[in-house]
Amino acid sequence: MFKRQVNGSCICVFCDRLISVNKSTCPHCDRKNPSLWGYSRSLRRLGKDLGFTAIVTWGCIALYLTTLLIDLGNIRNSGAFDFLAPSPQSLVMFGATGAIPVFELGRWWTLLSAGWLHGDLLHIAFNLLWIRNLAFEVAEAFGSGRLVIIYTVATGIGSLSSSLVGHFFPDVPPIFQGADVSIGASGGLFGLLGALVAYGQITRNLIVRHQALTYAVVMFLLGFIMPNTDNWGHFGGFLGGYLVELGVNSAMLDRFS
Ligand SMILES: [Zn+2]
Repeated sequence: MFKRQVNGSCICVFCDRLISVNKSTCPHCDRKNPSLWGYSRSLRRLGKDLGFTAIVTWGCIALYLTTLLIDLGNIRNSGAFDFLAPSPQSLVMFGATGAIPVFELGRWWTLLSAGWLHGDLLHIAFNLLWIRNLAFEVAEAFGSGRLVIIYTVATGIGSLSSSLVGHFFPDVPPIFQGADVSIGASGGLFGLLGALVAYGQITRNLIVRHQALTYAVVMFLLGFIMPNTDNWGHFGGFLGGYLVELGVNSAMLDRFS
């Protein structure tokens, strides 16, 4: 499947225009290595996002099933927001984040792993449906590399926000509380929305900006109604995606001005 192309033409991985596969710099967009060492044609078969959406989807589903199966006796089923919920012990074992895992157990790596775990059936279904929608849009707008960076940084900043607030400000009113233990891909999901808002702002595409901002506000408010939502994780994720996109864009403007 991954056959290296050594002659002829291919599509620049950055700007989608036709180039010779042997060019070291794209004549249209000036970026280096536009054919990705001759692998751009093979990689494009995986789709615009180079398979990232599929990796997130199947990775989250596999981990959800594993956290259920490993502690079958303690699966919780009490209502729509707690249906087919893995036990807290199995979630912590597989990398839940929050004030306790990060500050008391010293498990810093959970800032990223928690984004791949889910707390019940509705939680995983909601997150994955939204991520599948947005990831394709983000990959289309920015390319697969930036999609992965935005998603990963947003997941980390979302987890860090709720862990920091949970650890240093334990006595704030309930709606401003951080998390002792937190899981879910929604930090990354909010990051994708934040990136689209920044993109709409920079390119003055008011439709994109307005739509992404509306989704983010509605989902953020939903978090205050739904039980056990990590609102700092959502806010931190949004901010992470927004800042990455602003940073990347200003760096690119510098380079091309
Ligand atoms: Zn190009």
